[in-house]
Amino acid sequence: MTSNRVFNFSAGPATLPLPVLEQAQKELLCYPGAGASVMEISHRSDAFKGILEEAKSNIKTLLGISDEYAVLFTPGGATMQFSMLAMNFLKGATADYINTGSWAKKAMQAAARCGTARSAWSGQEEKFNRTPQPEEPELSPEAAYVHFTSNETIEGIQYATEPDAKGKPLFCDSSSDFLCRPIDISKYALLYAGAQKNIGPSGTAVVVLRKDMLEQVPDGLHPLLDYKVMEENDSLYNTPATFTIYIISLVSRWLLKEIGGLEKMHVINKHKAKMLYEVIDASGGFYRGHAQPACRSIMNVTFRVGTEEQEKAFLSQAKAAGLDGLKGHRSVGGCRASIYNAMPVDGVMTLRDFMLEFQRTNG
Ligand SMILES: *Cc1c(COP(=O)(O)O)cnc(C)c1O
Repeated sequence: MTSNRVFNFSAGPATLPLPVLEQAQKELLCYPGAGASVMEISHRSDAFKGILEEAKSNIKTLLGISDEYAVLFTPGGATMQFSMLAMNFLKGATADYINTGSWAKKAMQAAARCGTARSAWSGQEEKFNRTPQPEEPELSPEAAYVHFTSNETIEGIQYATEPDAKGKPLFCDSSSDFLCRPIDISKYALLYAGAQKNIGPSGTAVVVLRKDMLEQVPDGLHPLLDYKVMEENDSLYNTPATFTIYIISLVSRWLLKEIGGLEKMHVINKHKAKMLYEVIDASGGFYRGHAQPACRSIMNVTFRVGTEEQEKAFLSQAKAAGLDGLKGHRSVGGCRASIYNAMPVDGVMTLRDFMLEFQRTNG
């Protein structure tokens, strides 16, 4: 069965580490000690509490998170966080959004229902091909927080370092580059990620929240949209996505034990991305990258191929060669290779060789 698995370059839900899937398969009918599968046991059982604890503690270890922060698992993916964070922290006031692309814009539009979501900088006129220089965003002195999107999944651009929030709480949508490299978490008041890009299956977001922020949460929010309720109940106010959290525990264990942490993951990720960008840069314009080189994402490599016809042929021949999911997002077209943590180096080498051969025969 595994021999039919393609190299899956889809942006999300995305490829998962094979050892994780194999482990889950082994434990699918009976989670050790539980007498049933993870899907069939109480979320208040000791077995599941162990899984939840491990998922949290692995993420804390990987990111070097202190007890000043809570790690939460919330329903509704990253999109729900767009609204939830605004309900908890915007509350009719003003916040600054750095508009780097499709996802930043969606976050800003959702927040606008709860107050003034200002665009402090926009890359729209440049077709979202870069992130801003540190001094470019024009922040408002009244802003309740500054929101940015560390990696724009659709355009394929990524910040080299965090923007300067000038002392305001820094909020980050890190859905498509969560745990791809070490970060200084103390710079963040809130960081969230939809699970299905880099840490597990879809439907859940991982939220890292500095606990002092909880003092600002207003009374009377709906319980599942209230960070205080989620924190006080250790993400167990209602039945969470237990199987998703179980897979998150396995992926984070794989990152910690098999990869050896985020420094090592970052080295591998940079190496994978470099292989593809080198082909693009050496192609004499046959492959054309979307992102400005300094802002290139190491997670989503976006590019165009030759003519429209050649691009179509590229995608269909790639698929036939077991390289799937390379079509760009419907809103921008072109091609996109999503090379998250779980994409093996082998997969990227195969794609690189395919690109070289395709140009040799079509260029
Ligand atoms: C995929 C993605 C989202 C949306 O995630 P959902 O879990 O589908 O809500 C938000 N932000 C970024 C950066 C993404 O890549």
